[in-house]
Amino acid sequence: MDKKTIRDVDLTDQRVLVRVDFNVPLDDGTVTDDNRIRAAVPTIRAILDEKPRAVILMSHLGRPKGERKPELSLKPVAPVLQDLLGEEVHFVEDTIGDQAKQAIEELPRGGVLLLENTRFYPGEKKNDPDFSAQLAELGDIFVNDAFGSSHRAHASVVGVADHMAAVGGLLMEKEIEFLNNALADPGRPYVAILGGAKISDKIGVIERLLETADLILIGGGMANTFFAAQDIPVAESLVEEDAVDTAKQLMEQGLDKLVLPTDAVIADAFEADANSRTIDVMDGGVPDGWRILDIGEATIALFNEKLQGAQTVAWNGPMGVFELEPFAKGTFAVAQTCAELAQAGATVVIGGGDSASAVREAGLSDKVTHVSTGGGASLELMEGKELPGLAALNDK
Ligand code: ADP
Ligand code: MG
Repeated sequence: MDKKTIRDVDLTDQRVLVRVDFNVPLDDGTVTDDNRIRAAVPTIRAILDEKPRAVILMSHLGRPKGERKPELSLKPVAPVLQDLLGEEVHFVEDTIGDQAKQAIEELPRGGVLLLENTRFYPGEKKNDPDFSAQLAELGDIFVNDAFGSSHRAHASVVGVADHMAAVGGLLMEKEIEFLNNALADPGRPYVAILGGAKISDKIGVIERLLETADLILIGGGMANTFFAAQDIPVAESLVEEDAVDTAKQLMEQGLDKLVLPTDAVIADAFEADANSRTIDVMDGGVPDGWRILDIGEATIALFNEKLQGAQTVAWNGPMGVFELEPFAKGTFAVAQTCAELAQAGATVVIGGGDSASAVREAGLSDKVTHVSTGGGASLELMEGKELPGLAALNDK
């Protein structure tokens, strides 16, 4: 990374203001998935090791629309972080101002404080200079470890960096290392796997991959729009009519690189207990009343074969509706192949929130090279876009 990190600065006796991504799912005040909190722990630990005056953590949570919404308080995150970190974590019920300042003053040396949800203030999303300045008053040095929020130019990600030294955390560094550097200069062959619900989310990524990757395997709901572009009937399958022309263009551009499914698992309802069977896509398409919910065995074998020998693999988007057990096979098979390739020395990078959950569910997240913590941010990096939250940090 060509930006400074916490390793390049002296944190001793400093009030270190850290933007983390604690935008975690809550169910009635309980954190139901602590992966993002876990991902921030190495950075917080590393900062504490440098004997700072205090570590002040800030994050957004959900979409409170610039208002104080008790159900979107970050308070339930503090005890979860405390357990993971093994250090006391204090919480203050405001994000800026006197109450926050007082809470920092009252912290013991090296204490950790979590501020309230940054999005309780409308200035956060507007990247408002006054709000940024008020946040900046709370620290002496700014650390951005919120990779998953860094595609947004918000006050706690971008504006605050105007006021003091601004460096990246260890998670930020790792994400950039794998999603940017590794994919910009990939070991070859470089095979990308794309899936998920919609093609429209990922057109930019496909265009970039047509330039950088050797092969692009397409599965998931996205493949349906490519079928429609070839006038293959897809019946009740998820299709984006608006993107059919784009799919046609992409197919013309990428004839020798795009690999589409040859068979599909179809169902007569969007339910786990629906009737299902496998069809050959080229054999008349999907019958009326049915929909594609997964790739079939022949496609699993085809993708597996195309992946053999890959030195770099980027995967974004599940191959089917993996949330329903009967339609998870394609996604888990690809996850398994990815894990085997990584174990054999390939660089395997997984981006996208749902793909990351699928890999975790398959118990394989430790077996691949990197599972990104950022959905939107990882897509934008894969598209080759600059992340505002990264651009705002000090150059090395
Ligand atoms: P990611 O978060 O990994 O980027 P997306 O958000 O683009 O992935 O897509 C994930 C969603 O795509 C999942 O909820 C999955 O159920 C859905 N999906 C995958 N295949 C299909 C399909 N054939 N039909 C409908 N939805 C699908
Ligand atoms: Mg998603």
